[in-house]
Amino acid sequence: MTRTVFALWVALLPIASAAQAPSHGVRPSSLAIRNATIVDGNGTPAKGPADILVEGNRITRVVWLDPVAVRSGTARRPTAATEIDAAGKYVLPGLINAHAHLQDERAGVPQPFDYTLKLWLACGITAVREVGADTTAKIIAIRDRSARGEVVAPRIFAYARFSNPPVPQNADQARARVRELKAMGADGIKILGLDRDILAAMLDEAKKSGLRVAHHAGVEETNAWDDIRYGTASIEHWYGIPDAALADGVQHFPSDYNYRDETDRFRWAGRLWREADPARLDSVLAAMVAAKVAWVPTLDIYEASRDLQRAQTQPWFREYLHPTLESYFRPDPANHGSYFFGWSSTDESYWKENYRIWMSALREFERKGGVVGAGDDAGFIYQMYGFGLIRELELHQEAGFPPPKVIQHATGNNARILGRESELGRVRPGYLADLIVVDGNPLEDLKVLYPTGVDVVRDGRVVHAGGVLWTIKDGIPYHGPTLLAEVKQLVAAARARAPAATSP
Ligand SMILES: [Zn+2]
Repeated sequence: MTRTVFALWVALLPIASAAQAPSHGVRPSSLAIRNATIVDGNGTPAKGPADILVEGNRITRVVWLDPVAVRSGTARRPTAATEIDAAGKYVLPGLINAHAHLQDERAGVPQPFDYTLKLWLACGITAVREVGADTTAKIIAIRDRSARGEVVAPRIFAYARFSNPPVPQNADQARARVRELKAMGADGIKILGLDRDILAAMLDEAKKSGLRVAHHAGVEETNAWDDIRYGTASIEHWYGIPDAALADGVQHFPSDYNYRDETDRFRWAGRLWREADPARLDSVLAAMVAAKVAWVPTLDIYEASRDLQRAQTQPWFREYLHPTLESYFRPDPANHGSYFFGWSSTDESYWKENYRIWMSALREFERKGGVVGAGDDAGFIYQMYGFGLIRELELHQEAGFPPPKVIQHATGNNARILGRESELGRVRPGYLADLIVVDGNPLEDLKVLYPTGVDVVRDGRVVHAGGVLWTIKDGIPYHGPTLLAEVKQLVAAARARAPAATSP
């Protein structure tokens, strides 16, 4: 069947019943998503059409539609209390953001959780791994409210920050901190900047406590070899990987370099990958695969370093950038990631090369059997919540991953990194009903996932399309355009209260 004839046939499929569309934010007893083209979370090609039946918070059936039976009216299609017609649409597992921050302030200025939570859902994100809030108790509280369906929010997996004061100073204190975080109800732990003895002790205790550990592997005493030896679940970002492949064990910094100076740190980070010895790097990647250490690269969060102007002028800033975040992004040595002083074309060129080597290492890691995840680290360095994850997916495509694998990174792979692959990240009967209905084909254009949509030509006319129409989390359907309108209103109200001094 040719593409055109097939598309026409899908559009003509009769709807099996006259059930109503679901209500925004209300879990129906049952929901049929009809005529869906499915992109599953396991890297396989698109398939369809199918009717997906959701009962309560679970996917209970995926019924592949037989064209002959449908046309003759003898097709056995599931009935449901509510339905969404997904003819011409793509249905994916809900996206999982494996490196997210739920922030209620920036530089001490309050910012409502609602802003972030709604942006996440509007971008098709049904679950986040919240890594390292200072306010873990608050995060755990909102996680539990989300689990009970009491708040408009994705599922939240709370990874508590290990090094909140008082910072553990020896192995016993490290073990005690792990037990304390476990008792608080953390789902996992985020670590950063630990010396080797502390890292070894905390990872051993975390294993005993059944807590997974995400390692923001900075330039520190440990590197990827320690993650391999002691067993972290995932390396966040990247530094510890090329660092483990340096012939001399340390990057060749200028003598006046100071790691605590962020302009120094980010400038010279752009020259780290070029110093990694290719043969050593290959061994590091192979050992990560063997030790089952996953990699969540957060490519998007460094993009301003290779193209500052692009980062500062993202189109969604106009209506959706919260004034608190806007102020935070402005260059200021007091704010993490706001280091753009004298940022030059030379810096950008080094960073572009840095990305090329980084991206090829990432691909080689997956080719060897490694698990690549996707997270955005938004709330820093010009990345907006949710939008950052879509941009992350675009960068995975730029790295050379085929689009079905890119989708897998943000769904099935992220579920695996969370240890929840048996019930999250797939469009499969028995799995939790976390699904998105997308207006457009993300395998053709990942930009259709941006809630602000894309302009396309249809029948010779330019029309605005794209966006996630429905984000279904735990069986609760949220209408994408409604969420986005609410965010717009929230931002407008915040700007009216606290007008930004100047635009960036
Ligand atoms: Zn982060």
